[in-house]
Amino acid sequence: MAGYDFNGQRLHVEPALAAGSMIELDRTAANYLLSVLRLGDGDEVLVFNGRDGEWLAQIGVSGRKSASLKPLRRVREQTRLNDLVYVFAPLKHARLDYMVQKAVEMGVGRLQPAFTRRSVASRINRDRMRANAIEAAEQCGILAVPDIGPEADLPAVIAKLEPDRLVVFCDEDAPVADPIAALAGASVLGGLALVVGPEGGFAPEERDLLMRRANLRRISLGPRILRADTAAIAALALVQGVLGDWRDG
Ligand code: SAH
Repeated sequence: MAGYDFNGQRLHVEPALAAGSMIELDRTAANYLLSVLRLGDGDEVLVFNGRDGEWLAQIGVSGRKSASLKPLRRVREQTRLNDLVYVFAPLKHARLDYMVQKAVEMGVGRLQPAFTRRSVASRINRDRMRANAIEAAEQCGILAVPDIGPEADLPAVIAKLEPDRLVVFCDEDAPVADPIAALAGASVLGGLALVVGPEGGFAPEERDLLMRRANLRRISLGPRILRADTAAIAALALVQGVLGDWRDG
């Protein structure tokens, strides 16, 4: 992260970024820059779209609520998201907002909602989830917004994971044991998936289904029951520290 400009405001946009192009901002984005960030004509922001790297862009204000961006120069090359799938049971509103934001900050590459027997939420608001993912990506400096996988029941989600993908299963019923030792030496060449259950915990048949999978490590997150959003952060810290990008030079 050395040399990264933490002070620059960052904005995710959809259109292509190239020198000489001009990006008309929609009302929400214009309002965010002008009213929330209090930026104005001629000010500079960092922009990214998940494809063209990060650009320094200049704001042009054309009315009280309309603005455009002129990409000036590329400041970072495009990077890829981690091959880390976060499988989670949807929670209710504020907790889900929080969990999605934190998962993105922790380096998840794909958010995969999975309905379980004891899920508290039976639907998800994908737009809201995406807005939270975008906000977290803007804030934490990554150059792409994690995908949100199509919601499905847990068995279908697990069946769709590639056989060589390592699954780390956070099980509140697992005996407390050193989680670093449990993960050490596991191969993540085929990518990684982390599974965290709903507030109501996993049903026995869901636990059985997970345990039948060959390429799986079951871990305990200690002697206390964590709420699902806390478990997400704790487990992501563990996998990123032992197997993931916290170890990269
Ligand atoms: N209501 C359940 C707890 C569910 S906590 C009960 O009382 O048993 C929600 C999810 O967070 C769990 O399904 C699990 O994936 C994770 N989790 C919470 N605490 C954990 C722990 N100590 N060890 C492993 N996983 C945990």
